[in-house]
This record gives sequence, structure tokens and C-alpha cells, in this order.
Amino acid sequence: MGGVLKARYENSALQEREEFREALADWFSQHGRDYPWRRTREPYAILVSEVMLQQTQIATVLGKGYFTRFLAAFPDLMALAAADDAALLKAWEGLGYYRRARMLREMARAVLADHAGEFPQGLQDLLKLPGVGPYTAGALRAFAFELPAVLVDGNVARVLSRLMDCADPVDETAGSKRMWAWAAELADPERPRAYHAALMELGQVRCRPGVPDCLKCPVARFCKTRVPERLPVKGRKIPITAVDEHALWLRDAKGRLLLHHEGGKRRTGLWKLPIREAAEIEHLPVLSQQCYAITRYRVTLRVHDGGASGSSFKPAPGDAWQEIPEVPALAMAAPFRRVVERLLEDF
Ligand code: SF4
Repeated sequence: MGGVLKARYENSALQEREEFREALADWFSQHGRDYPWRRTREPYAILVSEVMLQQTQIATVLGKGYFTRFLAAFPDLMALAAADDAALLKAWEGLGYYRRARMLREMARAVLADHAGEFPQGLQDLLKLPGVGPYTAGALRAFAFELPAVLVDGNVARVLSRLMDCADPVDETAGSKRMWAWAAELADPERPRAYHAALMELGQVRCRPGVPDCLKCPVARFCKTRVPERLPVKGRKIPITAVDEHALWLRDAKGRLLLHHEGGKRRTGLWKLPIREAAEIEHLPVLSQQCYAITRYRVTLRVHDGGASGSSFKPAPGDAWQEIPEVPALAMAAPFRRVVERLLEDF
């Protein structure tokens, strides 16, 4: 391309980017939703919200008050850094993926130890914090510090793949790189906070998964795809494995309930009903049956009545008798919390 043509092309691309940002900003100023984390520029609160929202829907985080409750329990970096496992997991109860809570505590400790309690603002310094990847670092820069940032989450990847009509799988290296490159090109360096919130919101309310609402899309005129419902393309299909879990419901003569304190990888520190081999308890009456999903597993949890056998069961390592009034204060994964609460009403 000759010099003049190249300059013209670059100018028109620049102008189109400006118009895209303006259209998005206008729409967001009228339709942007009010979330608690959008009312603050406090990096600690923004970090908590970003980590919570990584694998949990906004409606869940807001509807059940997780965000405000967590900040009430740990109002600042010092409080979180000093939290013990039991208090931390209890505050995270119901959100799942408990590793996130521990990682958040590690981040708080690192900011206190390495940065005298002040969040760093530079991208490279942020990336050195434990558990902080490019997305979280970008979110902190944009939402807390109003600094130029690039961030791509699932919503943004969907919007970009449609805007650019790109069928590269967004969860594979080449596709992901393209999304980050486009995100960097489009990002508004003047108003990063509003721009990134707007693009995410566009993905939530207009450019939704499945069939998007293109008729009401503020950036429809910039969008290249004609088949948005086929985008984004995902490469990895993770097979779901069905698993059966057999749990024991056992009360002793004092009315205490037998619970198990998890020592394994997935839910370390959480309490649950004791799990036994199917052969040991599957002949016992089933008090409750429910299914839940965790990572790539579809679990069918059956709770068997251990009392009906004449209570020959003994506590195994990690099991402990718990007084019933103490049970609500124990951190427990959501499927077990639900079944324990229901069965305690019946028994
Ligand atoms: S026009 Fe439709 S597909 Fe394109 S960005 Fe807007 S909502 Fe998404």
C-alpha cells in the first residue's frame, strides 16, 4: 500500500475506533447498571469482586449478598490477610471454587508484605501478585486506577469474536491471542473504567450467549458477523463424568451429627457429611438424593440413614461429632449445606 493510501486507511481505522468507543460510551451512560463494585475505586473491593465473579454469575454474587457480606467480614487487606481458614471458608460458603478464597488471601498478604499495603499500579507489578493474571491485572488498572488496560473475559471474547466475525476457537492459543490483540486495539485509553465496564455489559445484556439482541445493539453498525449465534467457537469439549457419592446421616445418643472435615485437594477445610464406599452403605434407606455439578463432574449425592442399622458405624479419620447449634457456623459446600439443613428439619 502506498504511503498516502496507508495513511488514509490508518486514519479511517482510527476514526472508526473513536466512533465505536463513543457509541459504546453513550449507550453505557444511559443503560449501565449500578453494581456495588461500580460505586467504588477501592482496589481491594474491586479485587474481591473480580475474583468472586470469575466463576460465579453476577446474579448469584449480588442476589445472595456474598460481596457485601465478604467485605463486612474482611473490610480491608489486613483483615483478609489475618483470616483463618474457618472464617475465610465460611465467608466464601456457597460461592464454590474455594481455592479462590485462599488465593485472595495470598494476594492480600503479598500486597502487605511487598508493597506496604498499597496496591501496585504497574502491569508487571500486578502480574507478580499471586493468582493475578492478565485479566485481573487489567481489571485493577481500569476499574481502580483509571489507567489504560486490556482485559478479555468470556463476555468480551464473545463480543469481539462477533464484531470481527472470527471463527477461531476463543479458548485456544491462536484465537485467544487474536481476541487480546483486538481488545488492545479497541480499548479506550482516555476512559478505561467506563469503556471496559461498557464492553462487559454489552456482552451480558445485548451480545448474549446464544441469540444476541442485535436490534438494540449500540455498536451493530461496526459488527461484521451475519451469524452471531454460531459465535464464539469453542475448541475444547470437556467431557462430563458421572459420579455417585454415598453419604452417611448419623446422629449419636446426644443428638450430635457426624460430619467430616475435608483434607483433600478440592474442598480442603470444608465440612461435609461423611462419605462411605457404596458397598458399605448403599443398602441403607435413602433419606435424600440430589445432583450437583462440580468442574467436570456430575455428582449424584445420596444420603443414607445410618441410624436405621442400629448405628454400628464408627467415626473415620477426619470425622467429628458436631453439636447441632454449632453446625450453621461451620463452612460447608453448598450441596451438603442444603441437604443438612433439610434433614435437620425432619430429624
Ligand atoms: S450486532 Fe449483535 S452480534 Fe454484533 S456485537 Fe451487537 S449484539 Fe453482538
